[in-house]
Amino acid sequence: MQTKYEELTARLSAKPRAWLVTGAAGFIGSNLVETLLRLGQRVVGLDNFATGHQRNLDEVRALVGAEQWANFQFVEGDIRQLDDCRSAMIFDGAAVDYVLHQAALGSVPRSLADPITTDGVNIGGFLNMLVAARDAKVKSFTYAASSSTYGDHPGLPKVEDRIGKPLSPYAVTKYVNELYADVFARCYGFQTIGLRYFNVFGPRQDPDGAYAAVIPKWTSAMLKRETIYINGDGETSRDFCYIANAVQANLLAATCEDEGALNRVYNVALGDRTTLAELFRLIRVNLQPFGVAKDVKPVFRDFRAGDVRHSQADIGNAQGALGYRPTHRIAQGIEEAIGWYVRKHRETHA
Ligand code: NAD
Repeated sequence: MQTKYEELTARLSAKPRAWLVTGAAGFIGSNLVETLLRLGQRVVGLDNFATGHQRNLDEVRALVGAEQWANFQFVEGDIRQLDDCRSAMIFDGAAVDYVLHQAALGSVPRSLADPITTDGVNIGGFLNMLVAARDAKVKSFTYAASSSTYGDHPGLPKVEDRIGKPLSPYAVTKYVNELYADVFARCYGFQTIGLRYFNVFGPRQDPDGAYAAVIPKWTSAMLKRETIYINGDGETSRDFCYIANAVQANLLAATCEDEGALNRVYNVALGDRTTLAELFRLIRVNLQPFGVAKDVKPVFRDFRAGDVRHSQADIGNAQGALGYRPTHRIAQGIEEAIGWYVRKHRETHA
């Protein structure tokens, strides 16, 4: 039997729609653009390259080919500028059907170092996007929320309606997104769905910079034979979610027409928990064919401020209301992601 996602992709291919993906030059955004173009959709991308890269868009162009790439329009702009948001709502003179809003400044430590900029982009920019989307009368507005909204709530697994106090400025911004989306639904009859991502990983996630996420950072460091640091004792755990699962959740959410499922937030994860120590071993095993020694050891250091200890999602609501069925467990995702990082490493060091 076909899954809801398989039915959806067949339907979209048969009747293409117009989409806006913000943060298109970033990790999740560029993967959304790639999938949508492969399905023959028309896509506008918006990005200001704050943390995203032209090379991500170049890679998507090479992967999808010239014919599909012709369906892509790019707006270089900043979501803090309402006019940029409005320009991005238009594909070939007509308003887009669906918005997948991914643009934001990620990273808990970045928000601790510079809460004002994170606030400006993640809250001010978000509000601009809501206003522009409402005025363009798009069919739906799907946005990147975050598992950081669970904050200090001790419950495991995490269920959408049980949240604690935010532990970082970043978490505040992502929670405010949910509040604004909810208010727009109530006050303007606007259709939104928030996706609380849990540690998404995969190709094109940036391995460089002070705020890199753990999987790209460790993979890249191991390939370069650099020391790997584990913040804490290694027992901190996360629900790592491969990008294909997050892409699926976005498409299902955007096209959802079930009244009862709309204007809610959903966990997007696997419903599993992997400790940092286990993750380290998994990456090391996958890198052994590429010359990484099987006895490489991490160096343990202090816990990081603002980090939650354990994170694991209950994905029952996304499964029940959206028909979300994750296709990739962590091991398969890591294998695919590492294949990509190895190829990139070889290209740069050839
Ligand atoms: P990313 O940094 O790769 O992508 C974000 C993109 O947004 C970048 O291309 C960046 O240039 C762009 N951007 C930033 N500020 C902008 C601005 N002012 N105007 C226009 N574009 C701007 O990060 P990502 O991992 O792809 O994250 C995408 C979204 O998912 C973000 O909203 C993030 O908060 C959220 N999220 C990600 C994870 C994860 O595990 N990756 C977890 C929870 C939530």
